[in-house]
Amino acid sequence: MLVLVINSGSSSLKYQVRDVAAGSVLAEGLIEEIGMGNGGDGDGEIEGPRDHAEALEQVDAAIHAELGDLDLAAVGHRVVHGGERFAEPVLIDNEITRAIERLNPLAPLHNPANVLGIRAIAKKWPDLPQVAVFDTAFHRSLPEHAWRYAVPDSLYTSHGIRRYGFHGTSHEYVTHRAAALLDVPLEEFDGVIAHLGNGASVTAIQGGKSVDTSMGFTPLEGLVMGTRSGDLDPSILVFLGRAGWTPEDLDTMLNRESGLKGLAGSNDMRSVVEASEAGDARAATALAVTSYRLAKYIGAYHVAVGGAKALVFTAGIGENSHQFRSLVADRLGALGIVLDAGLNAVRSKEPRVISTPASAIPVLVVPTDEERAIAEATAAVVHSAG
Ligand code: AMP
Repeated sequence: MLVLVINSGSSSLKYQVRDVAAGSVLAEGLIEEIGMGNGGDGDGEIEGPRDHAEALEQVDAAIHAELGDLDLAAVGHRVVHGGERFAEPVLIDNEITRAIERLNPLAPLHNPANVLGIRAIAKKWPDLPQVAVFDTAFHRSLPEHAWRYAVPDSLYTSHGIRRYGFHGTSHEYVTHRAAALLDVPLEEFDGVIAHLGNGASVTAIQGGKSVDTSMGFTPLEGLVMGTRSGDLDPSILVFLGRAGWTPEDLDTMLNRESGLKGLAGSNDMRSVVEASEAGDARAATALAVTSYRLAKYIGAYHVAVGGAKALVFTAGIGENSHQFRSLVADRLGALGIVLDAGLNAVRSKEPRVISTPASAIPVLVVPTDEERAIAEATAAVVHSAG
């Protein structure tokens, strides 16, 4: 079954054509600067597509040029916010599209773009089934004590202010693969998954299900990230607001100018590690703050799952930075975690164990593949609907 996976952003559209049975990628690409140009009509302005429909024409042309005629079975969309309604991937119809649109206030940068992508495809290929795979869905299993904020009840009941969690597709995929690698039935897998990319979150898994996760109402809460602050005292915002900062100023500072970038001047873990190794004190501080925050969460989630039986690293930093993994592990002696320096240093695209046999629990590196997870979920939904 061939599935087109779409990750539609406000000004970009990422795509992959996947052969689900073979687990392979047949074509992939990225269309950028949507809505910023003139569609290439040659008057010298930026030549981005005018809108998502035009971007989709470019995707269609690119796929056609690369693969010729092909028989797509479905389209799978990464949809950022599924609110409280969506706990699983769903087949999209008009009502579902409107439901995703109603969640726009919760994800103002992402859900409107997802809806534009869905509508553009429905118009171009009206008979092609479309499936929405939600980034929040895996965390619908959080117990209320983990998703509630201790603020007046009306903020939840009237405004939907609660913790939702994100990166769910990745956390779920990695959980399945880690359980398989350890030969543990999914329902018995208790562990902690650290998805460490430019955005980063950590999830507590009990019985194969998410029971807590570090991102909250938005992807800002929790860990120190590439450009996001993660947790801080909310009074800082009140303080800055009184000093004249606007909501937009605060948003930019917290989401784009903080994290590794705010502390060390770069959001690229490679540069920060290199700078620290070369003696840069700001970079060393950034690594200490970032690894300490993660270690604190891992300790907390060890408690949340009633004793984690595995720790798993994934995504850009988690899969590639042996230095960062070792900084975190160094802080986890209280959990009896011991990395094998040799195994930790190995570069590989395969899921693997990087702890010693003496470690109280195994530490794993499991590469994530959100597009693969979306393609598989899409095929499963279409199959069961058909
Ligand atoms: P992602 O968002 O999953 O693509 O991850 C992006 C992050 O992974 C950035 O901070 C990169 O610096 C980091 N990263 C990617 N490759 C490496 C590598 N070889 N060593 C260290 N960090 C890496």
